[in-house]
Amino acid sequence: MAEQRLAPYAVTSSLWGRSIHEAAPAGRSEFQRDRDRIIHSAAFRRLEYKTQVFVNHEGDLFRTRLTHSIEVAQIGRSIARRLRVNEDLVEAICLAHDLGHTPFGHAGQDALNACMKEFGGFEHNLQSLRVVDVLEERYAAFDGLNLTFETREGILKHCSLEHAAQLGAVGARFMQNQRPSMEAQIANLADEIAYNNHDVDDGLRSGLITLEQLASVRLFAMHLDEVRTLYPQLSERRTVHETVRRMINALVSDLIVQTESNLHQSQPGSVDDVRTQHPLVAFSSEMHVLNRELKAFLRTHLYRHYLVLRMSAKAQRIISDLFKAFIADPRLLPPQFNALAEADRVRSVADYIAGMTDRYAIREHRRLFFVEEA
Ligand code: MG
Repeated sequence: MAEQRLAPYAVTSSLWGRSIHEAAPAGRSEFQRDRDRIIHSAAFRRLEYKTQVFVNHEGDLFRTRLTHSIEVAQIGRSIARRLRVNEDLVEAICLAHDLGHTPFGHAGQDALNACMKEFGGFEHNLQSLRVVDVLEERYAAFDGLNLTFETREGILKHCSLEHAAQLGAVGARFMQNQRPSMEAQIANLADEIAYNNHDVDDGLRSGLITLEQLASVRLFAMHLDEVRTLYPQLSERRTVHETVRRMINALVSDLIVQTESNLHQSQPGSVDDVRTQHPLVAFSSEMHVLNRELKAFLRTHLYRHYLVLRMSAKAQRIISDLFKAFIADPRLLPPQFNALAEADRVRSVADYIAGMTDRYAIREHRRLFFVEEA
């Protein structure tokens, strides 16, 4: 059994189980079952048409939230295996971590949060949990996917204390200032490694940032130099990929070495020990600085590029127009929303908008605001 090779600080089985009791799965672990339910969910399929930085129709080669989630899961599993923690749990958390994201990436999320200000706000991590706990309608016996506590806890990466207080056991760690499992910590940093690197790749591919600009980023420059020395004749596309793969490898290797050293120092004997320690999964302080430099570069040169900001402004307008139109006249909503009480209706409007793909939101906006669209 794979479980026998796991370290004492790994999650071996679900201690806290599922909200609705179910018989143990045959032939797969509880976390494999979670992963399978996530992959078969409607929200997971919609990730294909939701974006990170670029809007879905801008190009077929850019990452979507679906390919992003798969890359996060790949990085997360590699790290989990090396650290002898539960790969299946890491995979489930990684694949589900973005299920609650609105259309149009962060611009969409900020716009929806602003719309929901008087109604409890909108947090995408909380929404991911809401998708797997409530919104998926697939099973006869329960709403949502009835996932294990450990997967749900990992999905809830951040949460305001105000919301945590209303979430029961899954929010408790925020109130008690505790850490989640090693598996959840790995998923969190795998997400960061994945998006920083693929944003470099997509940014270069789009032409919004250039290799010359990136030469000011030490983590990129050191690997670019190595690739150019080894392969001076290589095409630019291959040079970029050879550089990015080295960056990912450097970040993953550093994270594993530093985390092993943290584990060696604090010797956690159980998952409970992991919870009460400082975060054990971490980059070295040198890599932390290099990684921060890369993030700062992306913020200035890519996320705040005027062409990205133009798209973000459009996205925010679409989200806020849709929200205002639905709240002002609920009769414009699909009929299942009209039966709801007003307070529930506002939250349902947020759920409806958050669930939209980029192109669905654009079409819905046209249908509501342009006479020629049916
Ligand atoms: Mg992500």
